[in-house]
Amino acid sequence: MSELVITDLHAKVGDKEILKGVSLTVRSGEVHAVMGPNGSGKSTLSHVVTGKPGYTVTGGSVTLDGVSLLELPAWERAKAGLFLAMQYPTEVPGVSLESMLTASATAAGRDPDVVRARIAEEAESIGFSPDLIKRPLNVDLSGGEKKRNETVQLGVLDPKIAILDEIDSGLDVDAMRAVTRRVEQATNRDDALGVLAITHYKRLFEELEPDHVHVFAAGVIQTSGGAELAEELERTGYSDYVGLVEVDDTPEAFRNPFGDATFADSLNLHEG
Ligand code: ADP
Ligand code: MG
Repeated sequence: MSELVITDLHAKVGDKEILKGVSLTVRSGEVHAVMGPNGSGKSTLSHVVTGKPGYTVTGGSVTLDGVSLLELPAWERAKAGLFLAMQYPTEVPGVSLESMLTASATAAGRDPDVVRARIAEEAESIGFSPDLIKRPLNVDLSGGEKKRNETVQLGVLDPKIAILDEIDSGLDVDAMRAVTRRVEQATNRDDALGVLAITHYKRLFEELEPDHVHVFAAGVIQTSGGAELAEELERTGYSDYVGLVEVDDTPEAFRNPFGDATFADSLNLHEG
């Protein structure tokens, strides 16, 4: 049984406070949905918890099975069992999905041949083209292929807790079903995966049943409930929270300036 505990987390980008006291606990086998308007800080939450550089934590704590994560670099958090499927997966020229996964598996003492077989299996289960396994990570992939790529990583790395940041964006209906079915399956095995799924749409939850739904706006969780809250949000939108929401007019280039710092980078896997 694993437990990711986020307590009163505050974080800034530059001098702008984005996270204003987030508390959330995700245990093995649980699916937590975080739903909220654009620009409310959902991706920031995923980045701060998984250790993407560029954010300043100004308060609170994050622990995984009692180990404090905030002092650790991203790769050590990953090694501790935390996984992030990014909203905008990073292109990594010179590193293939296969080399990235076999290197991290070897570092963890796993047999690279076994890992290669797992990659093929995982790719097949979600319709990720085998050609893409050996191509540079995410380079020239479509939005949907990038999301499937993230899902293959999730399947092979077998984390304790996964944060999925808009894993549904760019996926067609069939691909989304395959991806969410794969994640749901991981939450049901022995030693089950715990999931924090960030999304705008309840369609993500057709296959992946959320145990808890949290409305996130203006840097905090405004309210929490069960699956019925996702239904309600789909009807009402975030209008109840709209007064709290700042308009996000920051160009993407400024919002994602660390787009080239990745898990692969932190493992130093560049081959050329
Ligand atoms: P969401 O994922 O909920 O759409 P984000 O976490 O991406 O929201 O962004 C929250 C706010 O923080 C936005 O106003 C965004 O422009 C700002 N922000 C996020 N990252 C950065 C950054 N690296 N530099 C400047 N502003 C940022
Ligand atoms: Mg986001």
